[in-house]
Amino acid sequence: MIYIKNYIKGALTEPISKKYFDNYKPSTGEVYAQIPDSDENDVELAYNAASEAFESWSNLPKEKRSSYLLKIALLIENKLPQLALAESIDNGKPLKLASTVDIPRAAANFHFYGTGILHYASHAHNMENTAINYTLRQAVGVAGCISPWNLPLYLFTWKIAPALAAGCTVVAKPSEITPMTAFLLSEICIEAGLPKGVLNIVHGYGNKVGNAIVSHKNIPLVSFTGGTVTGKHIASIAAPMFKKLSLELGGKNPNIIFADCNYNKMLTTTVHSSFSNQGQICLCGSRIFIERKIYEKFKTDFIEKTKALIVGDPLSEKTKVGAVVSAQHKAKILSYIELAKQEGGKILCGGNEVVLTGENKNGYYIAPTIIEGLDYNCRTNQEEIFGPVVTITPFDTEEEALKMANSTMYGLASVVWTENLTRAHTLANKIHAGIVWINCWLLRDLRTPFGGVKASGVGREGGFEALDFFTEPKNVCIKL
Ligand code: NDP
Repeated sequence: MIYIKNYIKGALTEPISKKYFDNYKPSTGEVYAQIPDSDENDVELAYNAASEAFESWSNLPKEKRSSYLLKIALLIENKLPQLALAESIDNGKPLKLASTVDIPRAAANFHFYGTGILHYASHAHNMENTAINYTLRQAVGVAGCISPWNLPLYLFTWKIAPALAAGCTVVAKPSEITPMTAFLLSEICIEAGLPKGVLNIVHGYGNKVGNAIVSHKNIPLVSFTGGTVTGKHIASIAAPMFKKLSLELGGKNPNIIFADCNYNKMLTTTVHSSFSNQGQICLCGSRIFIERKIYEKFKTDFIEKTKALIVGDPLSEKTKVGAVVSAQHKAKILSYIELAKQEGGKILCGGNEVVLTGENKNGYYIAPTIIEGLDYNCRTNQEEIFGPVVTITPFDTEEEALKMANSTMYGLASVVWTENLTRAHTLANKIHAGIVWINCWLLRDLRTPFGGVKASGVGREGGFEALDFFTEPKNVCIKL
């Protein structure tokens, strides 16, 4: 049994309560680790350590901060096999995905911000013959960073790296459902010699540890990625305290496919954008709108390719779809499939849990599911399911596709497949989303603004946007 530890003031520590709770392995349903059941007292210790470290860390030359971040990036790269294995076991995702996406991206996050901070500059505004203004960008203080379970180390480091680069010190909480790689990151930070208290990681439940971070009177900014309901709750606590807030929330992303698209490229990518990571990526396209002219052909080919996806042990090379993250999440996804049936949906493939054999017999597996015949306004098409479940719907005109695409409360990502340049630009302009991919999916340049509109979030991560978030601009005006 592995006992996960908090990382406070540079040391691996037990929770003050000495209490732990179970960590499950989604592929087998077994308990394989123990997670600290930390509370506000542990958060207070972490805050005190971060607060003590703030002065020296924020005043350290950026080249030195950069070198720590680059050291951490290198250690993540060197330990890729063990981190990928840990991520796959903890989350249920295929080992191949963890090895090629999650862990390389975690290293890239540290590398990107370790170098990015060296190029971060602020403005000067000249008032001719009167005065000159310049903008100081100063680290805000102790940052609270809270992340979800779907891309554990990837999203955890996407917050921590820019915060540290900007000169903030951090109190961070990974999802209690997938704490393992955050624990391993603690060990990496110790190996990298990161000064004590610069990064503190407190494990435990959202409503205890997360809540203590969000409501801490001396933590002036919170970067949160997770569900919209949690985001709303966090905003209700943090906004009246005038905290800076970055909220990356849920999505119900549309894929709009026109008959003039590059069909084969579209088909292969649509299978990925539907079922990668068991559909548990906030950017997955879960509502697929297809121009009627190619609807039947698409339906046949999409079903065939989806049925060919092997659902299995995440550690097997052959597996394309691993386990969903928890028993509770599996039940939620299956309940949405039932809802879809009640709403008149026809299950074209999947629609059921998959029971494997041997040691995986109690794991949490769901067959990739395609549903048709649903109204674009029904709950199945409006609410986030966050599993391997997509709906397909035909459309006749661009206007109709746009109306359906924009009909949800969400606005995170979207995909358009067309070879018509004018149509691509027009739709990109009109879609309510923070990201529009034309003829691709999940192609990421870390310099671009990342985030959503409407109920998908507030603010942007990525590039200098994240450094802007973790710093406060101060205008200095000098009279000539
Ligand atoms: P949750 O909102 O349930 O949890 C996210 C994090 O918040 C977890 O660490 C959780 O802790 C913590 N938390 C829970 N309650 C509170 C609270 N009261 N105060 C402070 N923190 C709290 O999301 P999930 O982990 O279920 O993640 C899935 C969601 O994340 C989906 O909606 C998905 O769309 C969204 N997401 C958005 C992304 C984006 O970039 N926009 C990217 C990835 C995912 P614990 O788990 O320990 O309870």
